[in-house]
Amino acid sequence: MNTGFIDHERIFDYLKNVSPPDLAEVRAILDHARELKGISTEEAERLLMVNDNEQLDEIMATANYIKEEIYGRRLVLFAPLYVSNLCNNECLYCAFRRSNSFITRRTLTQDEIRKDVEALVNEGHKRVLLVSGEGLGEDALEYSLKAIDTIYSVKKGNGEIQRININIAPLSVESFRRLHEARIGTYQLFQETYHYDSYKKMHPKGMKSNYLNHLTAMDRAMEGGIDDVGVGILFGLYDHRFEIMALLQHIRHLEEKFGVGPHTISVPRLEPATGSDVASHPPFNVSDWDFKKIIAILRITVPYTGMILSTRETAETRRETIALGISQISAGSKTNPGGYSDGDSAEQFSLGDHRSLDEVISDIVGHGYIPSFCTGCYRMGRTGNDFMDLAKPGLIKHYCLPNALTTFKEYLVHYGKPKTRVAGEALIKKMLDDIPSESVKAKAREFLDRVEKGEKDLYL
Ligand code: SAM
Ligand code: SF4
Repeated sequence: MNTGFIDHERIFDYLKNVSPPDLAEVRAILDHARELKGISTEEAERLLMVNDNEQLDEIMATANYIKEEIYGRRLVLFAPLYVSNLCNNECLYCAFRRSNSFITRRTLTQDEIRKDVEALVNEGHKRVLLVSGEGLGEDALEYSLKAIDTIYSVKKGNGEIQRININIAPLSVESFRRLHEARIGTYQLFQETYHYDSYKKMHPKGMKSNYLNHLTAMDRAMEGGIDDVGVGILFGLYDHRFEIMALLQHIRHLEEKFGVGPHTISVPRLEPATGSDVASHPPFNVSDWDFKKIIAILRITVPYTGMILSTRETAETRRETIALGISQISAGSKTNPGGYSDGDSAEQFSLGDHRSLDEVISDIVGHGYIPSFCTGCYRMGRTGNDFMDLAKPGLIKHYCLPNALTTFKEYLVHYGKPKTRVAGEALIKKMLDDIPSESVKAKAREFLDRVEKGEKDLYL
């Protein structure tokens, strides 16, 4: 059993002998966390052992403080774009797995991709996450590269897609290099579970059954020049404490080797999926209590890493977890190829949130958050290490909030429903005051005026 840089023995030993911290120990760690520099792996592991309500409340309050200090009250929005549900793997939790005969298979043509993208652009989206099953064999890379070209080529009314993140099968260093040259944003891949035996059980066949090949994908992506990688765990497959400890080992491995950790962490929980028993009966169900704890601890431990929550969660869970540190959410999502234009195929898993983009935005605004369509960092080359250099001293706030306000204003002007526009404009006005620097505030005002007059795509 070769588990690469995930030291299973260390985690097992730790979990066998450990006892929960007392309040004084938790408070000492949280004091350290409030310095906004992250905490050590050992400190994070102590917080992970907390099982007391009062302690959790303090952890959540600290996570909320850190989130507001670093990210302010803004939330980046994106939509997943499923292009193929063909798959050669047998992931037991997924409706797309090869032997599942309950779903209709479909791979979008470039023309069909264009139609889906037009529908998304018409709604006001600027970012997509390109998602695919793993059934395209040798053609997968060429198909994905064409799809990226197609997506970037769509210009519709007042909009276009400005950043494509991508969640597809792991590649070789050379193929990752080609993906990088195609101007992708983040390459995402979830380990699903870091626990070797569970991994083997959940992935009995196909390329994905190779634990080590999957685990080392981010190393190859970064060697291929991709600065921003996104990791993730599918919660429900194994003990979440093991998963978080292993995830921290993965993060530290990338930090040591490349000088920078992942750009984002995704935190999906298992959802029911057609034809999957495992999906409806998770072997290690993660309760809402634990889920909040996980998100808060990650925010505290790696404060500068984005955290992504998907449509899989209900509107209520989203609201609670956004306050704890989620920085990106999907909105108005469909998980079936063609779902935005014709809806003629099977979805990957059930969605907990069926609201349109405008409804999600209206809700977010109601809770005092600014939805952001900003793609400024990526387009200005502020990625990987450069992004972290900028983010760590807190400077990102100077760019992010003005850019969020400007891109949100553009959304309101061109796509917002009347009610959303009224609430959105009021929030923008209020948030302008939060910009700490007078010169940045003046620039933001200028951009907002120019967008009001019809200019587009302004960012710092
Ligand atoms: N095929 C690629 C892969 O497996 O990495 C990318 C696409 S796959 C559809 C994207 C992610 O969906 C997987 O990494 C997995 O975490 C998630 N997923 C699969 N089945 C799910 C379920 N029943 N509930 C929630 N998420 C699920
Ligand atoms: Fe295929 Fe990915 Fe689903 Fe596994 S999770 S069956 S690899 S689409």
